[in-house]
Amino acid sequence: MFITFEGIEGTGKSTQIARVREYFEACGREVFQTLEPGGSRIGRDLRRMLLHVDNREITPITELFLYLADRAQHVGQVIRPELEAGKVVLCDRFADSTIVYQGYGRGLDTVMLRELNEVAVDGLWPDLTIVLDIDPEVGLKRATLRNIEDGKAKEEGRFEAEHLSFHKRIREGYLTWAAFNRSRMRVVDASGTPDQVFAHIKAVIEACETD
Ligand code: C5P
Repeated sequence: MFITFEGIEGTGKSTQIARVREYFEACGREVFQTLEPGGSRIGRDLRRMLLHVDNREITPITELFLYLADRAQHVGQVIRPELEAGKVVLCDRFADSTIVYQGYGRGLDTVMLRELNEVAVDGLWPDLTIVLDIDPEVGLKRATLRNIEDGKAKEEGRFEAEHLSFHKRIREGYLTWAAFNRSRMRVVDASGTPDQVFAHIKAVIEACETD
């Protein structure tokens, strides 16, 4: 089973992925946890480039191809073999991030993005995509608080300067895109406590497994 997690910053993706992992492991399933960008060896180099490049230097299309290259390598070298080995694969961001960030966020054509994603994933779409949804003002406050508590500047410094309006577009993008892909994507309200959010996610996973 291949499950991906999406959402803006501060939705609690990492916390929930850890909970989902524990849930599957308690059921006796082997889990492989991964992320994008950077889920393969080559992908880690691409991640460094993507996260630290100067915003004014990289063109949106160049950025797109770096994300797609990361995905193609990740699917071919990591995700597909792990699924074939019978594992549950949990991935923090996947193809929908490209549609939403590069499409709804940066204005690239979503039809083109869908087609290019198709090439990158090579037929391997998730069985289930959980979109954690939160008001961007709340999400950004949470993310800032977490960074202060962790005593570190967020690794993804390049994206810190994005304005609230950008995050609002991303949120709307996720909701719109999820509505187009109801068979695979589920929106989960991430404004509650970690326990409340996980209870909702667990119900979604159980419903998906009995389908
Ligand atoms: O997963 P995480 O929140 O750490 O991702 C870091 C950032 O990378 C995101 O907040 C987003 O701004 C950016 N990103 C992007 N396009 C993607 C994936 C991520 O702009 N396709």
